[in-house]
Amino acid sequence: MRLLPRTASVDASGALSIGGVTVADIAAQFGTPTFIYDEQHLRDTCREAVAAFGTDRVIYATKAFINTAMVQLANEEGLLLDVATGGELFVALNAGVPANRCVLHGNNKSENELRTAMSAGLRHIVVDSFDEIERIELLHAEGLPAPRVQLRITPGLHVETHAYVSTGQDDSKFGFNLNNGDAHRAVERARASQAMELVGIHCHIGSNVVTVANFEDAWRVMVDLFMPLALPEITLGGGLGVAYTASDVAPTMQQWAEVLRRATSALPAEIVVYVEPGRSIVAASAVTVYSVGTVKNIDGIRTYISVDGGMSDNPRPMMYGSVYEVFDPQRVTAPRTARARIVGKHCESGDILVLDAPVPTDVKVGDLLVTPVTGAYAYSMASNYNKLPRPAVVFVANGVARLVTRRETDDDLVRLDV
Ligand SMILES: *Cc1c(COP(=O)(O)O)cnc(C)c1O
Repeated sequence: MRLLPRTASVDASGALSIGGVTVADIAAQFGTPTFIYDEQHLRDTCREAVAAFGTDRVIYATKAFINTAMVQLANEEGLLLDVATGGELFVALNAGVPANRCVLHGNNKSENELRTAMSAGLRHIVVDSFDEIERIELLHAEGLPAPRVQLRITPGLHVETHAYVSTGQDDSKFGFNLNNGDAHRAVERARASQAMELVGIHCHIGSNVVTVANFEDAWRVMVDLFMPLALPEITLGGGLGVAYTASDVAPTMQQWAEVLRRATSALPAEIVVYVEPGRSIVAASAVTVYSVGTVKNIDGIRTYISVDGGMSDNPRPMMYGSVYEVFDPQRVTAPRTARARIVGKHCESGDILVLDAPVPTDVKVGDLLVTPVTGAYAYSMASNYNKLPRPAVVFVANGVARLVTRRETDDDLVRLDV
């Protein structure tokens, strides 16, 4: 239950409901696979973040999960939005989010992305490289207004997470390196430029970090760098990890805020301190429901249970070796005494959702299976591999399931072909 969205409940027959609607009903109405988001859970995590860090101090990293409904919800709950591409910026602006509530990131922003950001008037742009400084200067020379900028700094620390999502070490594509002097050179360069207003520095050390000491170490380095610069703003990134399995532990938003308070206690009160959580806002708010299509038992080897999605709707197990729980939403409490590998329907042996899952002994074709904690970096990383249409996304609240992103159709699969 700890892994399920907050409004989840299980009735006497073992049927799982989220937001007052049974998962079986949602699967029947919208098909499978479907991402089911608990809207109340989403609003609660947004509110907790604002309560912990302050009004207009929390910037939701949209890449964790972005569609029109989500950016509207985050905006309604008072979160600012972090976008990393022109595409994410388009979705936010198109949904009616004011430009001055959006922040642009990215290690390789194109001239077009910068042009859009500068003319729209974003809250700030997090500048990542000397090439980008030059690009902004060229655009300003063309007549675009000088943006407020922060500089992304690579503080040179290792964090305990997967190497693919560790971003604060010296050997990184992101940001200005602190240890080789680039950070200080960038500050001087940006300060001297008429094409931008340098307002702060930024770091983001990695994602799915559960060791709070990693944040504290990085943030202390950043605060030490920040103090003598006499700038008004500092952004300390996202990265707070979440529990994916029953044995995982992760700090709460409040504990994370406590670490931040300690690390920034020397800063004057008027300094604006931003954080940029993504995963911790959305991950546990959603589950994915699949249907079982085949059950193959190879005596003495293992059982394979194939579902109707896989690496195209959740590439995290394949990319990072991520581990998920799995259970039947129509009999949540059934004893799971057998073991099986839960796989997708793609033409890859690596298309594995759960390597070795405890399951009931009698899982059969047509059963539903749910993987919890799929709200972050699953739908947003979904692909059309094998021309599988991307799943539907549903928000549930108060007994109503609302389609917010429809399932792709066969026509969608050829709509770009000319
Ligand atoms: C991805 C990212 C975040 C959010 O990371 P989470 O681990 O999802 O909290 C924040 N800031 C930047 C710059 C990012 O790239």
